[in-house]
Amino acid sequence: MSSLKSDNKPLQNRTILVTGASDGIGRAAAKCYAANGATVILMGRSEDKLDSVYDEITHDKGPTPAIITLDFNTATPEEYSELANTLDQEFGVLDGLLLNAGILGERKPLAQYSATAWQQVIQVNLTAPFLMTKALLPLLEQADNASVVFTSSGVGRKGKAYWGAYSASKFGIEGIAQIWADELANISNVRVNTINPGATRTNMRASAYPAENPEQNPKPEDIMALYLHLMSDASMGINGQSLDANGFKL
Ligand code: NAP
Repeated sequence: MSSLKSDNKPLQNRTILVTGASDGIGRAAAKCYAANGATVILMGRSEDKLDSVYDEITHDKGPTPAIITLDFNTATPEEYSELANTLDQEFGVLDGLLLNAGILGERKPLAQYSATAWQQVIQVNLTAPFLMTKALLPLLEQADNASVVFTSSGVGRKGKAYWGAYSASKFGIEGIAQIWADELANISNVRVNTINPGATRTNMRASAYPAENPEQNPKPEDIMALYLHLMSDASMGINGQSLDANGFKL
């Protein structure tokens, strides 16, 4: 696909924050955005893992990224405000926000689901993306055409046994993405959409399906066309949609 070639640089001079940039799909997205010209703010909870993504991007001669650690399980609204202040001072604008970090939680019937696991999954998968978007909205509104991308799942569209809080959190993501998109449609240049990655070869997928042959699923690098499209000007005007990354072609 020609738009994935780094020499096109469709994200030149853009600043994009990626949550969960330390592993799996977020890691691939961060590297894809950098290869396409963006300065990427790598966010996750493990500095060591983020350092290795930083090294790969700079080794490939991408724009020097930034690293910010934050644990979404414990982050307070005040920490999100501090984050917004830091980014305002460093960059003054945010062109893209990929809300990708997530946890699986327990794979159990709801009747056996623990209250602790429920709270953690809702905190990391649903509350954190809401607080992050709220805190960073003023910076996104500084951009000419900012793009916010939430991350859903097949079980965020149809409930399935034993997917518990994860499924509920992804239904919530589909909902808040629609609400943001509708609220911002006529008053700002920020567009808000949702990606369902589909089955992808990551640690999370392996935890959810331990008996599955990982080779049958695409690697994160193989599903980047939609991730790139939604961050580039090619998707201007697309707002409030929930799209599938697996098999996406322009
Ligand atoms: P992954 O490989 O497990 O990566 C998850 C990322 O989220 C990691 O960078 C992880 O950081 C970060 N993270 C987890 N808990 C965090 C916390 N408390 N604070 C900050 N960061 C945290 O998962 P993935 O498969 O790439 O999934 C990415 C997104 O796609 C998720 O939202 C997932 O629900 C969704 N999804 C995936 C699939 C699939 O088949 N893979 C299918 C549908 C939807 P650490 O490196 O520190 O753990």
